[in-house]
Amino acid sequence: MTTQLPPDGVTGGAARPDEPPSRRVRKLSLLLDNIIESVPMGIIAIGLDGKVLAVNANAEFLFGLRRVYVIGESYEAALPASITPVFTKLKLGLQADKASADADATLSLPRNEGMQIGVSASHLLDREGKPQGYLFLCRDQSLSREVQQLRDLDQLKTDFLNTASHELKTPLTAIMAGVELLAADAGKFGPAAAPLFEVIGDSALRLNALVNDMLGLMRLESGRARLHACDCDVALVARDAIASLKETPRHKLCLDIPAGLPRVMIDRDNMLMALRHLLKNAVKYSPDGGEITLAVRVGNNEIEFSVADRGIGISRENQEKLWQKFFRVDTSYTSNFEGSGLGLAIVKHVAQLHGGTVFVQSEPGRGSTFGMRLPLRARASELVAAGE
Ligand code: ADP
Repeated sequence: MTTQLPPDGVTGGAARPDEPPSRRVRKLSLLLDNIIESVPMGIIAIGLDGKVLAVNANAEFLFGLRRVYVIGESYEAALPASITPVFTKLKLGLQADKASADADATLSLPRNEGMQIGVSASHLLDREGKPQGYLFLCRDQSLSREVQQLRDLDQLKTDFLNTASHELKTPLTAIMAGVELLAADAGKFGPAAAPLFEVIGDSALRLNALVNDMLGLMRLESGRARLHACDCDVALVARDAIASLKETPRHKLCLDIPAGLPRVMIDRDNMLMALRHLLKNAVKYSPDGGEITLAVRVGNNEIEFSVADRGIGISRENQEKLWQKFFRVDTSYTSNFEGSGLGLAIVKHVAQLHGGTVFVQSEPGRGSTFGMRLPLRARASELVAAGE
């Protein structure tokens, strides 16, 4: 809503002590007008006789009114029929000695058809506290309802994924164990059996990794995840992360760790998981190979872990969405790579669990650097104090 300034140049700005009193009073009155017009809700004042006393611009917009036509008129005649019963009910509540009263209403107007509004009513009093009428504040609630509906939907999706992941876990374990047994005796089933068992085994492993990612992410998202921080040798954690990767002949995996790194309070298992996701992505999205460097830096009360590759890179537009769960860059090129779109969401949660942040620097065609920055000393002492 915009506030119109009066044409004579007297604005509602702060009054100066050297100004004549009449001008100061006028300024104050304009300032109050401006405030009322700027409040992001519809305001309607009604006298004790039921006549409309004032309407602000937001109320004009909400109810499709023109104040020149409604001021001085009975509210029952001047306001839309879908709102007057609500005003009447609230007014009766105030007359029955309530200090304030609230109600919801659904508008039935061509422009705002079906709009949900919340109305709060209170007494309009003069300076001596004598009742002058009633004040109605009206807010558009559709937005907050939409947000709530989206939250509910998101929760439903999370619940479904949680149940599905748990239900998949047992049969998957049975399939993996069964295939391993069969593969050991593959010769019995003819020459085609061994490669077939290998395909089944690999697929089951991939599905298992996806289920583990979903369960891990949901645990991190639920807010139930606790940081199990311990005093860690960061260089060792970084080495373990690299050692846990599959052999990849086209890539050169490098560690860049300065000598004399301090021991740091981190959640070793979660950190290992996050670094593995970053390293696996660096391998996956560098199809032409090249150097991949896991670097650790300490400074300014924070520790930084980063993984740099010389892969396909990511456009600026997509960089903003990368950390959302299930987001995958949609190009014919990236669709060749398997993935769930959960890895970076997990990395972000792990960083947040440590009170830190994530970052990405990337240039399409030249490579990317993904990383986490975690607060160092402050967080560590907090954790020690909390006995974690
Ligand atoms: P995914 O399982 O798809 O790899 P992630 O959450 O780990 O899921 O990554 C999300 C998306 O971010 C990927 O689908 C990919 O498009 C992009 N991405 C992640 N890491 C890199 C990287 N190192 N280089 C280029 N793109 C990447």
